[in-house]
Amino acid sequence: MILTGSNEFKKIKDSIPLGVNLLAVSKGHKHDSIRKLSGYGQLDFGESRLQEAILKKIDLSDLTQLRWHFVGTLQKNKVRRVIKEFDFIHSVDSLPLLERISRISQEEQKSPNIFLQVKFIEDPNKGGFLKEELLKSWSNIISLKNINLIGLMTIPPIVLNAYQRKDLFCECRNFANHLGLKDCSMGMSNDWQEAIQGGATWIRLGSLLFGKR
Ligand SMILES: *Cc1c(COP(=O)(O)O)cnc(C)c1O
Repeated sequence: MILTGSNEFKKIKDSIPLGVNLLAVSKGHKHDSIRKLSGYGQLDFGESRLQEAILKKIDLSDLTQLRWHFVGTLQKNKVRRVIKEFDFIHSVDSLPLLERISRISQEEQKSPNIFLQVKFIEDPNKGGFLKEELLKSWSNIISLKNINLIGLMTIPPIVLNAYQRKDLFCECRNFANHLGLKDCSMGMSNDWQEAIQGGATWIRLGSLLFGKR
């Protein structure tokens, strides 16, 4: 069950500056927790597993104003269903995946909002574009149809301290600016304040809002 009451939620909301959007990452939590948070005015929810999300969406189908964000690793055989079920995809981590999303989006007459996941330092535990790789493919990337490319997403390696995280978030912000992208999806329950200082426009909070998974 949800831990955050309406007062606690308001406190968190009040400490998020204007221009920074809150994504409530509800993976591992039940649909009634989402319903409760939506009652406080939260509309954006993030899920990382397709099957889990589909089941919750059925229970929440009366809440038509909710926006769904896919934040997990996207397997290529799940692309069509994710395009149909989600408004935003935060975790596009390769060119072949992006090309597949473009092709299937055309077939489905959709135009999902896309963040490209970028890895600013080597991290064997995470997927994502390397900076040079993204620059090399850039003309190809922006020519893809039915992709609403809005920004970059990054997750710092677990070993970084708060200062190093902030530097990495700043680097992501600068790179997004360089590419002409407005949004940066960065910051989770343990580092969202550094992410905001670094220039995040979306922070992705799970355990801080919903409690332990
Ligand atoms: C689970 C998850 C989050 C939320 O993590 P917390 O530490 O619980 O805030 C954010 N982003 C992604 C990609 C996640 O998988």
